[in-house]
Amino acid sequence: MRRFCSLGSGSTGNATLVETVDGARTTRLLIDCGFTQRELEARLARVGLDTSRLDALFITHEHGDHIGCALGVARRHRVPLWMSRGTWRALGAPELDDGLLHFARDGEAIDIGTLRLAPYTVPHDAAEPLQLCVDDGRARLGVLTDAGSLTTHLLAALQRCDALLLECNHDRAMLAASSYPASLKARVGGRLGHLANDSAAEVLAACRHDGLRHVVAAHLSQQNNQPALAAAALATVLGTAADDVVIANARSGFGWLDLH
Ligand SMILES: [Zn+2]
Ligand SMILES: [Zn+2]
Repeated sequence: MRRFCSLGSGSTGNATLVETVDGARTTRLLIDCGFTQRELEARLARVGLDTSRLDALFITHEHGDHIGCALGVARRHRVPLWMSRGTWRALGAPELDDGLLHFARDGEAIDIGTLRLAPYTVPHDAAEPLQLCVDDGRARLGVLTDAGSLTTHLLAALQRCDALLLECNHDRAMLAASSYPASLKARVGGRLGHLANDSAAEVLAACRHDGLRHVVAAHLSQQNNQPALAAAALATVLGTAADDVVIANARSGFGWLDLH
């Protein structure tokens, strides 16, 4: 995978764009599509693209900050759409034209152009959530957002990545002190909720290796986290300065990061 960027990340919407080039062929995959179609077009325009230039959409789960306008984009621009069967059912089993809808499953590789996707199951309060690694034979990106706890399965899936995009949803002390009702605090901080900064650091500690080039902190809560706290948690594991950690923010994500 030659490069990747985010169009925005957080509870208001997520979309990660990956791109690879093989000879004359460019393959572009959008992971999650959590915006209105107008907003998505505006964000794609910032990186010089539009929805007609996408080769596939992969939706991790049915929550609104991930599904967004995915069905509309698939229908309007005939972009193939991948999701788990459970996600599709949770969305009301929407109909799409022949060849547009594809089901993803944990452990089954998906080839899209020169990209190979490896979806894996995560613990989150959705029907059948999948996160994924993307590989083009030269570089590998591991994506992990919307996971409430660590499993040996997800840690195994994220090994040997050249880049890691990890959810740093909240700082535990900020969540505990926040004005959220107790039930919401329990949901966000629970086993099927969202990853705290220290849990993301644990993932990084288990998956870091000498070939790891980029680490991104993503899906930060605007109420219960601060970019500096997320960056510091990950930088401590890397043994580097906090500004070596890229922050994916809600408004503009982050710009292209090259992998080869
Ligand atoms: Zn989310
Ligand atoms: Zn979610």
